[in-house]
Parts: sequence; C-alpha cells; structure tokens
Amino acid sequence: MTWEEFNQLDRIATLFVLPLGSTEQHGERLPLGTDHFFAEKMAEEIALAIPGSILMPTMNYGMSWHHTAFPGTMSISDSTYKLIIFDILCSITRHGFKKIFIANGHGGNHHSITDAITRVKALRNCEIANPLVDIATSNEFKQLIQAAFNENGVHAGAMEVSIMEYLFPNKPTLIKGAGCVTSIPNDAVWGQGTDSPEKWRELFPMGQKGNQKNSDPQKGKEIFDYITNKMVQIAKKMMEENS
Ligand SMILES: [Zn+2]
Repeated sequence: MTWEEFNQLDRIATLFVLPLGSTEQHGERLPLGTDHFFAEKMAEEIALAIPGSILMPTMNYGMSWHHTAFPGTMSISDSTYKLIIFDILCSITRHGFKKIFIANGHGGNHHSITDAITRVKALRNCEIANPLVDIATSNEFKQLIQAAFNENGVHAGAMEVSIMEYLFPNKPTLIKGAGCVTSIPNDAVWGQGTDSPEKWRELFPMGQKGNQKNSDPQKGKEIFDYITNKMVQIAKKMMEENS
C-alpha cells in the first residue's frame, strides 16, 4: 500500500490489527520467536474475519527482561517499549483513524501496552482493544487449559507447544522433538522466578515452566480457535459501535 492508498481508508470503518510479540526463550522445544509467530497468526485470523481491516507489521521484540538469563532472549526495556507502542498508536490516530485491535502474543508486554493505550486515549478520540490477558485469565479459559493439559497455561508449557504444532504442521524444524528433558517444577518453586532473570534460570533450567512433552496439536487448535474467536467477537463489536 502506498501512503496515498492508505489515506483513502475510511477513518471510522477501518480496523488496524497490530500483532505484538517477543523474542525470548521458550524452553527446549519451541523457538525464540514463538510469541511473535503466535501474535501474527492471531492477527491474520482477526483481519480475515473483519471486512476493511488492515494487518499491520508485526513487532517481533517485546518486554522480556525476566528471560534474559537465557541466551537468545532479546528484550526491550519496559520504559522504551511503552514509548514504542505509544508512538505506533499515535502515528495511526493522528490521521483520524479510530479503531485499533492489538493482537498481543506475550503476557509480559501487557502492562506496557495498557499504559501506552491509556496515554493515547487521553490525547485522541479512539478505540483500542487489547484483550489477550482478559481472555487468558478468565475462569472459562483456565478451566479449558487445566482440562486439556493439567497445567495452567504457564510459560512455554504444553499449551504453547500444542498451539505451535497446530499452527506450523509443515515446519518440523520450528518445533523440536518430544524427547526433551522437560523440567516440571515442583509446587515449591511454582510461580517464582519472574522477578529475577537469574532466579528464573536457576529454578527452571531449561526455560519452560510446564510439561512440553504433553503437547497435542488438536488441543492446540481448540485453544487457538477459542482465543481467536473471542478476539473476533470483540473486534466485530468494535466495528458495530459508532459505525
Ligand atoms: Zn510464549
């Protein structure tokens, strides 16, 4: 699209879909790019479902300082990340566009994104959705994950492996074999480690907090569809309002 074509877009009836990911360790089996691959696939689903939507370029880096004790993790500082998201949102809304949907693939980005949205909304009349964490922390979702994998949707656990296996069935080099060591945390260390990168690596030496052996692409499809259906419903509602 050229800038002139962009300029022809309807200010009210266009939905900008922004995929936000990360580049961070995802345990023994998953690539560093897991969260941005996931974010982009979600964003594609939303863009396909909403007429008049624009799929924006994916942000491949995110706020991942808690994973930086693992080589390959590349993090943007929280304070910088807020500004980047703020600047992107401002660049869209300064030309009168009103509707933006954030397809975030990494929970660690959430607070920075929320902060950026709040400040953009203080300046511009716009609507910006960022529903990943609301969806992922709902009781319905937690029950779904618990029933499917007997774990709670932890970092790089069976859920993320399953989603990746479903999304990339023809890319075996992207997901390593199931014969992994797998460090399943015991109850004493569960939930710890997020405040210190070194502590995380000490407690979860392979990086994952869940059981990566326990993956199933069919379950991955169910979870992915659940999340994207919820997002599409929210996006459709945004497009109905003030349209
Ligand atoms: Zn992830």
